[in-house]
Amino acid sequence: SGPAGWTAAIYAGRANLKPLLFEGAVTEENRLRGTMPLGQLALTTEVENYPGFPAGNLSEYLRSALASEYHWLIDLHKKEGCSGPELMHLMRQQATNVGTRIITDDIVDIDISQANGSQANGSQANGSQANGTRGPFRLHSLGGDRYEADCLIIATGARANYLGLESEEKFKNNGISACAVCDGALPRFRNQPLVVVGGGDSAVEEADYLAKFASTVYMIHRRDQLRASKIMAKRALENPKIEVVWNSVVDEVLGDETRGVTGVRLKSTVDDTMRELAATGMFLSIGHTPNTAFLRDKLELTEKRYVRWTVPFRTNTSVEGIFAAGDVADDNYRQAITAAGSGCMAALDAERWLASQGL
Ligand code: NAP
Repeated sequence: SGPAGWTAAIYAGRANLKPLLFEGAVTEENRLRGTMPLGQLALTTEVENYPGFPAGNLSEYLRSALASEYHWLIDLHKKEGCSGPELMHLMRQQATNVGTRIITDDIVDIDISQANGSQANGSQANGSQANGTRGPFRLHSLGGDRYEADCLIIATGARANYLGLESEEKFKNNGISACAVCDGALPRFRNQPLVVVGGGDSAVEEADYLAKFASTVYMIHRRDQLRASKIMAKRALENPKIEVVWNSVVDEVLGDETRGVTGVRLKSTVDDTMRELAATGMFLSIGHTPNTAFLRDKLELTEKRYVRWTVPFRTNTSVEGIFAAGDVADDNYRQAITAAGSGCMAALDAERWLASQGL
């Protein structure tokens, strides 16, 4: 239910294909993992690079376009232009307007083996466009329901990575976060030292944002050079509230149950030294993982476990009748507009494929 999914639904709906969109389940696990309905854009503030939404007072337009139950979003934002959540609700509304049926649940398994009596075996998915598999595909939801569809578009996006430390797991929700924009303004982080892990553009963005609230932001980076683009790196290095800690990794998150995170223990990547830093929060910014666990052994994935597009300039996957769009198949551009664009492509590819099958 990010830009790729909604755009695919808008195009499929307008083509009278009766799309059924699974927007994700509202669970604590999804909240902690960052995989709630409306995707990653729902975790951001201003969206300044989505064409069609320049800075300007869009309140009246948003009020007229969105159902009244979502007007609180506009009041919350109160700024010029469009916010991530507003943009996602606009897309959701547009998809609803053209007949999209929405189900608030996760798909946890897809069964491609029974389809149309073919002897296709998902585990043999090997990159060939057609392996004999045809819809209807059977889908199993987290809520225990089953669905059938003639054609599938996978648009499950990606989520932020964590380090995988036991101590990190312990303090999720109590000082550990992968989204500064969602959590940065919490009282526990105000005027306190904070840690951001990572050296890419996202880490700089997070550090820069947090510097508005924190006393100091330590950017912990494992090398002696930032991966971030020159202009972003300059932004971090010139911000008096940001201090880059070079050649270091987080060895353990320190804290206790009452206070949550109180600091981090750092290990040098160039010698054996350790050091501790006091901090009330640690924000992870170390890349993303595609949400493809439910597709393992069903579709061909890349080495980084993104869905592989198998035909140049098309959204086809290794299984006929299954298409992919957005960040779940794109570890390169990862933009709202590219996700939306590929969602459109997937719906058109799906429509043409359905027609070719006489469905
Ligand atoms: P990224 O560029 O892949 O950077 C990830 C960072 O995390 C790297 O510095 C990496 O270190 C570090 N890292 C990865 N695993 C780690 C681990 N286990 N322990 C410690 N550090 C670890 O990811 P990103 O910053 O999310 O950016 C993704 C893409 O989006 C990029 O193309 C970026 O340009 C783009 N983006 C652009 C903007 C913007 O222009 N405003 C904003 C955000 C993102 P190494 O450097 O040592 O590999």
